[in-house]
Amino acid sequence: MKRIGPLFPPAGHPRPATDTDLAPGNRTLRSYALQLARIEAALTRMDAGQYGRCTQCNAPIPIHQLEADPALSACSNCEEPADQVI
Ligand SMILES: [Zn+2]
Repeated sequence: MKRIGPLFPPAGHPRPATDTDLAPGNRTLRSYALQLARIEAALTRMDAGQYGRCTQCNAPIPIHQLEADPALSACSNCEEPADQVI
């Protein structure tokens, strides 16, 4: 009879992601979640016709900044909080 391995990977091996991976202590998945939220917010601004404008002062965001970060929501004068820049 063939032996079946353990149901859970041994310590030190990767495991499937779970909801607890989104806890504040998990920086990688947290940064992915933040980036996804920024992209979804940018898509919402596109639908509303506000994409490319600063959400704080309504000034146009220079194209070279949008090319570097298409999800940018604020101009360089207003800037986003540091924890949202990835
Ligand atoms: Zn601004």
